[in-house]
Amino acid sequence: MPQPTLDEFRVECLTFLDANATPREATQDFKWGEGDDDVAMFEEVDAAAERRQIEAAKGWRNARAEAGLHWISGPTELGGRELPASHDRLYASLETRYEVPDQSFFGIGLGMVAPTILAHATPEVREAYLPKMWRGDIIGCQLFSEPGAGSDLAGLQSRADRDGDEWILNGQKVWTSGAHYSDLGEIICRTDPDMPKHKGLTGFVVDMHAPGVEVRPLRQMTGGAAFNEVFFTDVRVHDSHRLGDVNGGWNVALTTLMNERMSIGAGGGGGGLGMASGTRLIEMVRHFGLADDGVTRQELARLYTNFQVAKYSNQRALDKIKAGQLPGPEMSVAKLALTNNLRATAEFVAHVLGPRVQADTGEWGTFAWSRFICGEPGMHIAGGSDQVLRNIVSERVLGLPKEPGIDSKSPFRDLPRN
Ligand SMILES: Cc1cc2nc3c(=O)[nH]c(=O)nc-3n(C[C@H](O)[C@H](O)[C@H](O)COP(=O)(O)OP(=O)(O)OC[C@H]3O[C@@H](n4cnc5c(N)ncnc54)[C@H](O)[C@@H]3O)c2cc1C
Repeated sequence: MPQPTLDEFRVECLTFLDANATPREATQDFKWGEGDDDVAMFEEVDAAAERRQIEAAKGWRNARAEAGLHWISGPTELGGRELPASHDRLYASLETRYEVPDQSFFGIGLGMVAPTILAHATPEVREAYLPKMWRGDIIGCQLFSEPGAGSDLAGLQSRADRDGDEWILNGQKVWTSGAHYSDLGEIICRTDPDMPKHKGLTGFVVDMHAPGVEVRPLRQMTGGAAFNEVFFTDVRVHDSHRLGDVNGGWNVALTTLMNERMSIGAGGGGGGLGMASGTRLIEMVRHFGLADDGVTRQELARLYTNFQVAKYSNQRALDKIKAGQLPGPEMSVAKLALTNNLRATAEFVAHVLGPRVQADTGEWGTFAWSRFICGEPGMHIAGGSDQVLRNIVSERVLGLPKEPGIDSKSPFRDLPRN
């Protein structure tokens, strides 16, 4: 089938969007005090509301699938269109102009787990799960972190022991976003404790509804419970659900982590706030009579400039991917730019709102920011902490010497101790 040109594809997308969604009000129409003042960093609603949101989110992906717009660049044999990434980006940018159900439930599954399944799973597993994931029928989560293994992921202790055609999983994962509504998870387990830590790991796709999987919510300082502890007790996984080679799990994990940094950094435009929110900040400054305050103006201009710089650097990295090159350390810069801009935004808002952000007086657009300010620190940890990403940038981008590690050949290892 001939591929549609970008212009033809634009018409196809707009036809679908016009028929199925309501156009958003133009950003310049933003008026202080009108509409939703929710600016929370993480969606945190009660269980019943969350179920309704998930149903709506799934319904939207189903509708996209009916129109052939759910997996624009995916392989045709798995239900995709195999169109270039530029078509994908075009759809994504057009969709932002419409009111559509919150799609964040699919962020980890489609942004990180699905690309790893595509790259490393058996044909059987790809066919069983990828079409359903992209249609929105099932949701995936990432089961990497453990109580003793976060930044040092290779130190993880959850085990998978071979038993004929199956593996038996035991252990505990933590901070698993969305585990409570996920159907499958990508898990990395230790399969050979005698090998060096990066080499004795294996990845699997695990059924989150299997006997022996227990999900317990974790409550955050924002009041919500968006992530969980997940316990595995004698959970059986068929060998066909292995990702990559036995003891080749580190490569599998790296595929996911690269995509994670890319989807977090790129998803936030590297800037953390879109133009609508930029307008929100400008209107906030006007509303509280600070438009002529020199320090406030300077900080606002700095924020705006940094959003733009991050946006253009991101675009440069995405163009590199478009040219067929792998996303690399640039994506760590994108995530760092995002978190820097988020922190600057939180500090700026706290400066403008002062005590209004601490006490809920019911005033529109004020206390609502507390959910942004309390959620923002999590972004400096998720998907690689700021410090770890700075190490990556210094070593791989700037070419600085590798930092001494406890299990690397440290240049300090043989120095006499006092
Ligand atoms: C919002 C959110 C969502 C998450 N979702 C998931 C998920 O879905 N699935 C999942 O598996 N995990 C998830 N995580 C967990 C996340 O991946 C880990 O929290 C992260 O890897 C850090 O690990 P840790 O919490 O064990 O901290 P640690 O690794 O113990 O780090 C503690 C501190 O030490 C610093 N540090 C560590 N090593 C170095 C070093 N070499 N050099 C300098 N400083 C260092 C860190 O920067 C940090 O400040 C999520 C976390 C958050 C906040």
